[in-house]
Amino acid sequence: MEIQETAIPLQQINDEITTKHGVRLFVLRLDLNHPYISGNKLFKLKYNLEEAKQQGKDTLLTFGGAFSNHIAATAAAGKEYEFKTIGIIRGEEHKELNPTLKFAVDCGMQLIYVSREDYKNKYVPPFLNLQTNKFSNYYLIPEGGSNELGIEGCKEITKNINIDFDVVCCPCGTGATLTGIILSLTNQQIAIGFQVLKGENYIKNEVNSWLEKFNIPKKSNFYIEESFHFGGYAKVTPQLKQFIKGFEKENNIPLDYVYTGKMMFGIYDMMERGGFEKGKTIVAIHTGGLQGNAGFNINETTE
Ligand SMILES: *Cc1c(COP(=O)(O)O)cnc(C)c1O
Repeated sequence: MEIQETAIPLQQINDEITTKHGVRLFVLRLDLNHPYISGNKLFKLKYNLEEAKQQGKDTLLTFGGAFSNHIAATAAAGKEYEFKTIGIIRGEEHKELNPTLKFAVDCGMQLIYVSREDYKNKYVPPFLNLQTNKFSNYYLIPEGGSNELGIEGCKEITKNINIDFDVVCCPCGTGATLTGIILSLTNQQIAIGFQVLKGENYIKNEVNSWLEKFNIPKKSNFYIEESFHFGGYAKVTPQLKQFIKGFEKENNIPLDYVYTGKMMFGIYDMMERGGFEKGKTIVAIHTGGLQGNAGFNINETTE
C-alpha cells in the first residue's frame, strides 16, 4: 500500500527578528503534505494502515475529541484506503455536527459518543468491549494515532528537511511525534517540544516512557518548553490570537490555535530573548491541524 504524499515545502522566514538574532528559521510545511490526511497525522497513520491491511482488518476504530485532527485524518484515510471507520468521540452528541465531525461523517465514519467519564476508561476492557463487541475485525488506533507504529512513521518527518539544521521544533500533545523526531536526529542536532497543555514534566515523562518502550536509553538531545500552553489545551489568549494573525499576514503561512500557533509564538519569544545561538538553523515543523480552525471559536479567549 502506497500513501500518496505531495512534496513538502521548506519555507524560510526572513524577518527583523531572525536578522537581529542572526538565526535562520525555516518552516517544514507538513500541513501541505496531503489535502485531507494532513500534517503529522499522516505520518502517524501510515504504518498503522499498512499493519491493518496486513492483518486483514476492514475497519479502523479510534478515539478523539470533537475537534480532533486525528479523527478527521482517520476518517479521510479510511475513505481513501477502503476501511470502514469508527470514531469514539468524547462528550455528548450535538444536534448540529461541528465541521470536524461533519467531515468525518461525510467520509463515512460512524461516530459513537461517550461521556467524559467513560472516555477516561476508553482502553479498559469492560468499557472497550461494550463499545466494540458490535464490531468485528477492527484495528484499534489509540487517540492521536500515538502508538509504536505512529512513532515509527514520525521518524520519517525530518527526512523531508533537505538542508543542514541544528534545532528542530515541534508542538506536543502526546509527545509521540516528538519521540519519532528525536529518534531521527544526529548527535549534533537537538529537538525542542512545545507542550500545548498544562502539566509539569508531562511531555517529558511521556517521551521518556516511549523511549523506554523502545528499549532506548534516556536521550539528552531534546527538551520541552512548558511555558507556552496559554492556560491549557485549546485555550487561547488575545495575545496569542494577535500573534497568529500577524504571523499569517507577514508570512502567508496559516497556523492553528491549538498546536502550531503556540509553538511559533514560543519560537519567536525564545528568539527575542536570545534563546538561540547566533548562526543556528532552526526548523519549525508545521504539524498541520488547520481543519480545526473551521470550528474553533476564536472569540472565546482567556487571559
Ligand atoms: C495531533 C497534533 C499534534 C500533537 O502530536 P503528538 O504526537 O500527540 O504530540 C501536534 N500538532 C498538530 C497540528 C496535531 O494535529
